[in-house]
Amino acid sequence: MKTAFLTGITGQDGAYLAKFLLERGYHVAGLVPRRSTVDRWRLDYLGIVDQVEYIDGDIMDVSSLIRGLKACKPQEVYHLAAQSFVGSSWEQPILTAQVTGMGVLHVLEAIREVDPFIKMYQASSSELYGLIQEPQQSENTPFYPRSPYAVSKLFGYWMTKNYRESFQMYACNGILFNHESPLRGFEFVTRKVTDAVARIVHQKQKELRLGNIAAKRDWGFAGDYVEAMWLMLQQNTPDDFVIATGKTSTVEEMCRIAFDYVGLNYQDYVVIDPALYRPAEVDILLGNPEKAKQELGWAPKTKLEQLVHMMVEADLRRVAKMS
Ligand code: NDP
Ligand code: GDP
Repeated sequence: MKTAFLTGITGQDGAYLAKFLLERGYHVAGLVPRRSTVDRWRLDYLGIVDQVEYIDGDIMDVSSLIRGLKACKPQEVYHLAAQSFVGSSWEQPILTAQVTGMGVLHVLEAIREVDPFIKMYQASSSELYGLIQEPQQSENTPFYPRSPYAVSKLFGYWMTKNYRESFQMYACNGILFNHESPLRGFEFVTRKVTDAVARIVHQKQKELRLGNIAAKRDWGFAGDYVEAMWLMLQQNTPDDFVIATGKTSTVEEMCRIAFDYVGLNYQDYVVIDPALYRPAEVDILLGNPEKAKQELGWAPKTKLEQLVHMMVEADLRRVAKMS
């Protein structure tokens, strides 16, 4: 039986990946940082909360990573933990640099120390492209990060590549474009919209305040994307891959789909709030998943409409229970 060690197991991707690996017969161990309240709602939602081994530790504490790796002896490490919200990265830039940037080096060092043959997945991001240098972004497109979050991810990207080249470690960057689900954090725009739609339907909210609705993103379903993470670690040689749908839509279009689904007109509810604009914006992202298709045999399965409908339905059910 293979063992996988996940950082960020309580997050959106950690939960979906844990479920995916359990279904393939893995023993799944997850690093869980100390918090004042234990919250494993995502693992609970997927019905796997009791199937995972939890290891106390924090990616800012290398000794806890070393102890965790020694305890569970994994063949694969998926490093997903991060301060993952771009918006907060201007409010907490130093913490973001430490957790989202230095955290990657801590994981790489722990692996190098304990067993350099452990394979490692690094959760890189399409935010690296920022001020895009090509209309459709591939593994060869130059980066131009636009937030403290993206600059921190750039450090993690290069450290991962550097450890691969310096120490022959099997370390891969998955350059994932935005991926969403009913388990997405409420601060991200898609979830903010689908939660608002459900609350408006249940008369718990009257309007939805948004920032730049002209921004475009290449949105996919998190459940599809975790398979790509796993595939990256099953190859003969480590490499970096873009994971995306190859389609881009505005935030406004995403809103329209969500409100349409419940028979409402988004224009009656959306209020533009300049305070929600970002200091530096990523106007448009559009990924080219061709390399993943050719070399990993991976392709996205879920269209934007299906994804948004799935999220609205889940939020309608959840908000109805609160009534
Ligand atoms: P989430 O924000 O849902 O999850 C982040 C996880 O990291 C949580 O489990 C969180 O635990 C954990 N974490 C935060 N700080 C620490 C710490 N100091 N030590 C240990 N664990 C910590 O993110 P996603 O699941 O959406 O994303 C997974 C990864 O993929 C992240 O690195 C993200 O930046 C990256 N990514 C995500 C994309 C997306 O569209 N979702 C796109 C591209 C990249 P807790 O909740 O207890 O703080
Ligand atoms: P990101 O791509 O990782 O930053 O994901 P988000 O979901 O946080 O943001 C996607 C886009 O939506 C960005 O261009 C934001 O500026 C835009 N956006 C517009 N209004 C909002 C809002 O109210 N909240 C968030 N999070 N994003 C918004």
